[in-house]
Amino acid sequence: MTDQYGRPQRLVVDRELCESYGVCASAAPAVFAIGDDDVMRTLQDPIETSEQGRVAQAVQLCPRQALRLEPVDQPLEADVENNVYDIPIERGKIREFARATGSSNPAYLTEQPVVPPTFLTTARLAWEPPDQDTMALVGFDLQRLLHGAEDYEFLRLPRAGETLQVTSEVTERFEKTGKRGGAMKFAIVVTEFRSESGQLVARQRSTLIETGAAPSGEGS
Ligand code: SF4
Repeated sequence: MTDQYGRPQRLVVDRELCESYGVCASAAPAVFAIGDDDVMRTLQDPIETSEQGRVAQAVQLCPRQALRLEPVDQPLEADVENNVYDIPIERGKIREFARATGSSNPAYLTEQPVVPPTFLTTARLAWEPPDQDTMALVGFDLQRLLHGAEDYEFLRLPRAGETLQVTSEVTERFEKTGKRGGAMKFAIVVTEFRSESGQLVARQRSTLIETGAAPSGEGS
């Protein structure tokens, strides 16, 4: 099966989370089944293309978030292996984050707190080595830098106490002419967060912009 861009995907079952409720088997009976031993089993590997929609629905419906789809060709690749660094998801830092954002949500204060979605950026900034700094990767002039957009895609929620392996790379560069003249440079930086076993947990996509220099004579 493939994602919306035609890239191959595989189904991953987190056995620690699955409680064999069988919602997946109802959504995609050709792919999931609950055995006589009450253990959920997958019946296809790889998943047939005709089952793609039903499997995607099962992933959405699983009450334990035990199912996820992840790219097939994305183990840590040799050419980025040296650029991998670790970030610990620290409970104390989650509390600090909640306090700093003015949140009193008790979900952030338990023994096993929920990890706020944008916490990954904070943790990354605290731990990334200088040569993996996003600004170093894009090479833009900091005085003309704009933060265009930030998207997160979660394949599962990060867990307090685990350590994630992080890689960032510039995946796209392009230019546009600004309204006041001058070229605006754009760079898309994709950062991936993986579990210690190499499974993709989250993907962050940052759009950075270097504004064009002001045209000479502007404002006269
Ligand atoms: S719906 Fe989720 S928890 Fe239930 S059997 Fe399927 S994978 Fe397991």
